[in-house]
Amino acid sequence: MLSRTFSSLLRPRQRVGRIESPWNYHQTRLRSYLAPPFLLDEYIPRFQLLTSVQESKKRSAAYKHLSNCNLCPRLCGVNRFEKTGTCLVGADVVVNTVAPHFGEEPCLQGHNGSGSVFFSGCNLRCVFCQNHDIAHQKNGFNISPEELAQWYIKLQEVGGVHNINLVTPEHVVPQVVLSILHAKELGLKLPIVYNTSSFDSLESIELLDGLVDIYLPDFKVWNAATSKRLLKADNYAEVAMESIKAMHDQVGDLCFTADGLAKKGVLLRHLVMPGHEEEGKHIVRWLAENVSKDMYVHVMEQYHPRAHVGKEKRSVQGRASRLASDPVEPGGQPATASAKKQIRYEEINRAVSLDEVASVRKVAEQAGLWRFADAAEHGGFNI
Ligand code: SF4
Repeated sequence: MLSRTFSSLLRPRQRVGRIESPWNYHQTRLRSYLAPPFLLDEYIPRFQLLTSVQESKKRSAAYKHLSNCNLCPRLCGVNRFEKTGTCLVGADVVVNTVAPHFGEEPCLQGHNGSGSVFFSGCNLRCVFCQNHDIAHQKNGFNISPEELAQWYIKLQEVGGVHNINLVTPEHVVPQVVLSILHAKELGLKLPIVYNTSSFDSLESIELLDGLVDIYLPDFKVWNAATSKRLLKADNYAEVAMESIKAMHDQVGDLCFTADGLAKKGVLLRHLVMPGHEEEGKHIVRWLAENVSKDMYVHVMEQYHPRAHVGKEKRSVQGRASRLASDPVEPGGQPATASAKKQIRYEEINRAVSLDEVASVRKVAEQAGLWRFADAAEHGGFNI
């Protein structure tokens, strides 16, 4: 039986003179914490429903991909049992951290945390990467898919977490597939979260079909020039659009059980970048017009300069630095302090402003999106 708090949240809101039906409730965009179309009575993770024949097919496909890896748009074509491609990772996975994590959206972390596995290596090279110490180099311990499965069980049994959250897994999809199938045999019962940059191939997303419950994709930038400069990828937006559509085709919009925890669907993140808010507006419009107006979206304001951003330019290090230490401007005037400072990616070397974030959010709402990951005013989870 539902608690008083939940039963009051479930009740449609009364407006003067009429009662909103649950089905037109969200269309009127009243503030709602529980929209009935997205409420599940109970949930069984998708991997639990695979037949043994489907599991064997997944295993075979995973090994085949590892032998000739074209699992992401880098299309390296390497045999990962013998060598590595751009992602630097072979047939094992390199894991940096396994722990209950409390830095995710409330509907994922709940009270006990999201059972996060931070993989080392990445198929992107974002110059502002928040995890560059583990993403741009191998930094962690090598483990097999079977050992990875045992960590999932520890997170479930010891950590009491609400889900298994695979962070930056795009380059280890075959190993992830093998680990989930093994964990099923060991007794895993938690939903699987695929926490991705969206630089995935359609083959990867197909391989994950039936295994992943919640896709947690970023949509980072819109313009090709920005993708090339800041992500070191030529075609990021095209790949992200295809991947996100394929993810949504599999699991749909985000659904919750009555405890406020997300169980199935897509939760899309967009980190608003300083000076790039117009790209964010394109992204949210595209989502509303091409994927779903019911998409659960987190417009994020946490950007901070990291990794290569704000570092001294290579050309002004060492001897060149000494030569450049006393520059003059035209007319023989001494250069100002800011002119002297030659740093990398200066255009994003600041925090994002709240106005920039608000402008993206406003366009998202105008485009018809209405389910946002906001802080809950009632102290619980917004669902
Ligand atoms: S997953 Fe790694 S090896 Fe495979 S195509 Fe991508 S970067 Fe290359």
